[in-house]
Amino acid sequence: MNSEFDTLIQSLKDQGLYKKYHVVESAQGAYLTLGNKKYLNLCSNNYLGLASDDRLRQAAIEAIRQLGVGTTSVRALIGTNTLHVELEKKLAAFKHAQDALVLTGGYLANMAVVQTLLDKEDIVFSDELNHASIVDAIKLSGVINKYIYKHCDCSDLQRQIEEARPIWSSTKGNGEPRRILIVSDGVFSMDGDIAPVPELVTIADEIGALLMIDDAHGEGVLGDHGRGVVDHFGLHGRVAIEVGTLSKAFGVMGGFVTGDAGLIDYLRQKARQFLFTNALSIPDTAALIAAVDILSASDTEVKRLWENANYLKKELQDAGFDTGLSETPIIPVMLGDEATAKLFAEELFKRRVMATPIVFPMVAKGTARLRLQPSAIHTKEDVRMGIEMIKEVREVLSSRT
Ligand SMILES: *Cc1c(COP(=O)(O)O)cnc(C)c1O
Repeated sequence: MNSEFDTLIQSLKDQGLYKKYHVVESAQGAYLTLGNKKYLNLCSNNYLGLASDDRLRQAAIEAIRQLGVGTTSVRALIGTNTLHVELEKKLAAFKHAQDALVLTGGYLANMAVVQTLLDKEDIVFSDELNHASIVDAIKLSGVINKYIYKHCDCSDLQRQIEEARPIWSSTKGNGEPRRILIVSDGVFSMDGDIAPVPELVTIADEIGALLMIDDAHGEGVLGDHGRGVVDHFGLHGRVAIEVGTLSKAFGVMGGFVTGDAGLIDYLRQKARQFLFTNALSIPDTAALIAAVDILSASDTEVKRLWENANYLKKELQDAGFDTGLSETPIIPVMLGDEATAKLFAEELFKRRVMATPIVFPMVAKGTARLRLQPSAIHTKEDVRMGIEMIKEVREVLSSRT
């Protein structure tokens, strides 16, 4: 049967936009097994290697033995287990925040914050390269007054704030003041650059805005013990809302929000993405408690991640590669042309190295790149092998043209 969806799929294929998914047969580690072959993994968000860490596995297994698997309910009914309460307490302490709310994904956490805090008469300022979940969250909130400022450009943000002054300095139809939200990723996933959080704090304070930072790629990576971008800049208590994911460096799944007790309690009462979906499962929650315990006690993994990232970046730069704006373990290798980036990734794959080609529409046309993400669990030898293969592919491709 030829449905309308077959036609749509064909059109995606014609445009080169049809994605094929890899199927991984091994645990998430420094190497992955696909089709019975072992590949060096330079493309995962498993920054600290916790996704297959024995301590997390053990915590999950023990929790399953005692408590089973499912939570069978939303948090507001009978889904809240003591494990959820413990995880939220430990996350708040780790982040030096008053309280934390755990949801089942970072995507949902962004949805929860923006939809709960903004209605259509409020106002939002958002970085043009913010993650899709923030873009979707803004749409969902129905806010009409949205301003998209140039990437990490605080003078453009200030210009737009001035332009919008008549709106945000006036009241809503019901006479209440408008809530102003400034929202940015902490670390941007395509370039590995860091948001200008100190400047954003100053601007937010000046106009009485709430500042929200989605630190999905900064959690477990930046700051002391991986406490994130706010810690990196020494700005505890100055950023009203921090959103994080438990699916990347923390190695499991879920999302969380930290902030003042009042804000978190309000979200707990009102956020639809918290109220109308099931609580995080028992093994996930137990493994996450172990992850937070590990990070709170030690910075060994974080340090190893940075050693690998710094080594990889420096060697690539010394070999003449352009690593773009990277300031973090997200390392783009700028290649420009879409076809080259795809070919580069394919050639690496043939050499048993996995790295993500990033092309339009994920980034602007002509800025295609390979994205590398080393992990704490790579040995120096693993990283060196990756570098050799990247150099080899460059040779092979340049000899073809
Ligand atoms: C990955 C990511 C998310 C989504 O987190 P999940 O836990 O996978 O839903 C949200 N925001 C940013 C910036 C991300 O990089």
